[in-house]
Amino acid sequence: MDHTHQHGKPVSILRFSGCKEIIVDNRQLENIFNHPEIQDRKVVILSLIGAFRGGKSFFLDYCLRFLYAHFPSINNPSKQTQTFFRKDDNWIGKPDEPLKGFSWRAGTKRETVGINIWSDVFLHTLNGENIAIFVMDTQGLFDRDSSPTDNSRIFALGTLISSIQVLNLNHQVQEDQLQYLQFATEFAQYTLKNKGKMDGKPFQNLTFLIRDWQNCHEFEYGPYGGKRYFEDEVLKIRPSQGSELQTVREYIKNSFDQIGCCLLPYPGTDVATSPQFDGRLTQMDEKFKIELKNVIEHLLMPDNLTLKKLNSQKLTVKQVKVYIEQYLKIFQS
Ligand code: GDP
Ligand code: MG
Repeated sequence: MDHTHQHGKPVSILRFSGCKEIIVDNRQLENIFNHPEIQDRKVVILSLIGAFRGGKSFFLDYCLRFLYAHFPSINNPSKQTQTFFRKDDNWIGKPDEPLKGFSWRAGTKRETVGINIWSDVFLHTLNGENIAIFVMDTQGLFDRDSSPTDNSRIFALGTLISSIQVLNLNHQVQEDQLQYLQFATEFAQYTLKNKGKMDGKPFQNLTFLIRDWQNCHEFEYGPYGGKRYFEDEVLKIRPSQGSELQTVREYIKNSFDQIGCCLLPYPGTDVATSPQFDGRLTQMDEKFKIELKNVIEHLLMPDNLTLKKLNSQKLTVKQVKVYIEQYLKIFQS
């Protein structure tokens, strides 16, 4: 059963208004982070970020199916916390079930640029530690009409708030995207400056998610081909590269505890182009279905759930909320 639409909804905590002003909804933030039973839990915040119409919300809605199938949540407490995690192989849902959750759709009309958080929070116990899992959908990075400053502000905020930052890209990683990434990460690190002396790498997990991957003969689909593509092609420092390109790569490697990459195949024409497509599995290419499942399991298996840290200290929900409010204030001014 798809619990997604029964138990939660996307809530906008921040949006960019037409004149580049940032509008923050503190009341919504309170609603999500203030549940008494999660205050002292450690935090996982999964964030997906990338251009409009990149299939982000679609991907996140399948992530929600995985989370609802495996973990209890604030709004669905009936599910038992598992002492030993056992994968439910049917988590992806029934073949003809329409996809619900963060709204996603075909079309070219741009949605509001900003950050949405799923109103429900997932609960799990990881190595004896109680954790709360939040899901965040960020809209607008690398859009045709976002400026480099907008891009880096959005990315910086996403990086500051999340513990698993998934950067959704089409076809491949481009040099200018790596440059934005460096610029944004510097921006984010600058925001952290007044939080005391930095200890360890400032940010946790950065995962590149490449859609419509075409070079599967060289690098196979999924997290392992992605890892090889990333290490052998993208991050590799070559003597022939100019020093600027080398600096970008060094900087990114030094800013995140872990960097991963997952490659997804083209999903088929129904998914990519049909306005009638409602997200059901039967309309996806077989290869895509297999890899979608594979990639989400890799990303969200409890062992891979990265906790939010600041200065190497694991933060609680209570602390994270205070930091998010501070970051939002800095970005508003
Ligand atoms: P978002 O704006 O990034 O959140 O994108 P959406 O999730 O709303 O999806 C936009 C469109 O892309 C929809 O028509 C989806 O069916 C389609 N889509 C979803 N995943 C993929 C994919 O991996 N490749 C392609 N080409 N299209 C996809
Ligand atoms: Mg979306």
